[in-house]
Amino acid sequence: MHKLLARQLKRSKVDDSFAQEYSDIVSRISDAYEQNEREINILERTLFITSNELNERNDLLKKQLNELSDTQQQLEHSISVLNATFDAIGEQITVLDLQGNVVSANKMARSFFKHFNLNAFNYFGQVDTIIKKGNKSTHIIAQLKKDPTQSLSGEFESIDNKHYSYRSLPQLKNGKLIGRVFCIRDISVEKQHKEIIHFQAYHDALTGLANRQLFMDRLEHSLALARRDNSMTALLFLDLDNFKRINDTEGHKGGDELLIKVVERIQQRLRKQDTLARLGGDEFVILIELVKSKNSIEVLCEALLETINSEFIINGRPQYVSSSIGISMFPKDGNTPDTLISNADMAMYDAKNNGKNSYSFYHSKLEAHAREQMEIERKLRKAIDNEELEIYLQPKIGLRCKQIVGAEVLMRWFTDSGEPIPPDIFIPIAESTGLIKKIGAFAIDSAISQLEQWHKNGFPPLQLAVNLSIIEFQDESFIDYIIEKISKSSIRGEQLIIELTESIFMENKEKMSKIMHKLKRYGVAFALDDFGKGYSSFSYLQLLPIDYLKIDKSFLQNVITDEQSDAIAKCIIDIGHNLGLAIIAEGIEDQETLDYVSKANCEMAQGFYMYRPMPCEAFTNLLRDKYNKVGGL
Ligand code: C2E
Ligand code: CA
Ligand code: CA
Repeated sequence: MHKLLARQLKRSKVDDSFAQEYSDIVSRISDAYEQNEREINILERTLFITSNELNERNDLLKKQLNELSDTQQQLEHSISVLNATFDAIGEQITVLDLQGNVVSANKMARSFFKHFNLNAFNYFGQVDTIIKKGNKSTHIIAQLKKDPTQSLSGEFESIDNKHYSYRSLPQLKNGKLIGRVFCIRDISVEKQHKEIIHFQAYHDALTGLANRQLFMDRLEHSLALARRDNSMTALLFLDLDNFKRINDTEGHKGGDELLIKVVERIQQRLRKQDTLARLGGDEFVILIELVKSKNSIEVLCEALLETINSEFIINGRPQYVSSSIGISMFPKDGNTPDTLISNADMAMYDAKNNGKNSYSFYHSKLEAHAREQMEIERKLRKAIDNEELEIYLQPKIGLRCKQIVGAEVLMRWFTDSGEPIPPDIFIPIAESTGLIKKIGAFAIDSAISQLEQWHKNGFPPLQLAVNLSIIEFQDESFIDYIIEKISKSSIRGEQLIIELTESIFMENKEKMSKIMHKLKRYGVAFALDDFGKGYSSFSYLQLLPIDYLKIDKSFLQNVITDEQSDAIAKCIIDIGHNLGLAIIAEGIEDQETLDYVSKANCEMAQGFYMYRPMPCEAFTNLLRDKYNKVGGL
């Protein structure tokens, strides 16, 4: 019997007879109790299992919930990073749906909308309104309507004059078009920088004028038009004559100031359509289109020469420059920009040779002349290398002692065929090509070794005068070369005279004076050659340590017949003497002139009448004869 039933029966004080009597029922009740107990057991176990499962599930859910919360946090973080990045991008990014409504826009895009008062707008409907009319990109939307799947890119200018670049890509989902993304970038500053760089590449930094490259482009273009219209174009090549002097005296800043002022003056004389460009330094070119006549160019050149030759105030001081202009005309003087420029350049040199402050038109003879000059230059280089140059000596006579007191060293060049090329031809070429330094060194070497030879042979000390051009004289290394030569030789510095022309007055006074004093410390003397021919400044004479004044032969050759030459010569001699200078009269061709200069108290004379320039050997023989005559050597 089920234990619980047994206990209940016992508690009920039911006796055994009752149990036996109802044993069948009791047994069934007992079975029912057992059955019930089994079921309770099963139920309990089931409950136990379910509860465990539930706990596990619960744990899992809790875990998943935690994970979800983590993921959400990560997601929020990612979104905030994404949003920050989206906003930080320097481009506007706008995402649109298929109808063109803004789905999302970054900060740049939002402020762009705000700037143009396009709040919550339909992109497609309004984007065209902010693009400047006439701009190619005004048709962006029309293009998109034609083919909504295409990618677009380009630039546009907004109605408030800003420049933008844009890119637009379709947005696809599973291959299906769902919208479009626009990226727009403000490129105004970039464009401005590009424009500045472009400007700098084609313009001169100092004056803001077109540079060579831009000028060549314009010239090319202009020639094409002139060819089409059968019109005439002029090309002016303008070079300042003594710009270097301003640079030296007023410094580079002063030089720059002058160039800017020159440009202003030139521009005032030009028409709007004319092009002025700076090729560099003090070189300018001017393009004049639709030229009516040669005369109109002449008038312009005269005006340019005059305006440039008028007073400038630089660093508060008055300054003067002049200019030389060469002109070539299209189609007459050339068909290409290069030929026209090179022919105008050639004509400019012709203007310089004609005494500067003038203009010259290109003509074919100039080319022949230039070719000839180049040929001479080529031959001269060879002649220097092959030692074909030689010095001649022209005696100088002391007018009191009536003796040869020295000689002037004059360069001679006899070509292979024995043909003499005069120094007036080859010296200027040597000066313009730099060859003059070699010639100068040769003259110094030859003079010193000649003086040494005479010294060795027991001749009384004579003086030799060497001509140096300003180009050599400005070169410090050449000055050091002369000093070294003197120091290493047996001659005294006093035996060397350097003849310089008035061109030294055009240079920086302080620099000239420094160089001259440097040489003076070694005894070297200075003669001012051809005085009266050019600048003739007595005030400069006082500033520089000059010992001799050579009156230009053009005065002396006319002193007997021409009153004016007579007056000038006397005046120069007087002032020279008052300044403590010894006067050398050169170019004496007759007895009358010799008498004249003797009477005028010139110290020395030189001229064909007494002696022509002669080879060193002839001069030495001459000395030997003279000294033999007076019982010398
Ligand atoms: P310059 O220095 O004035 O030289 C004097 C020129 O006058 C020489 O010409 C000489 O031959 C010439 N002469 C001398 N006496 C008379 C005369 O009575 N009547 C005439 N009509 N002429 C006379 P040259 O030798 O032809 O030299 C010409 C110029 O070339 C020189 O003029 C000088 O400026 C330059 N030169 C000559 N040799 C040299 C040199 O070695 N270096 C440099 N830098 N220049 C030189
Ligand atoms: Ca001379
Ligand atoms: Ca002379």
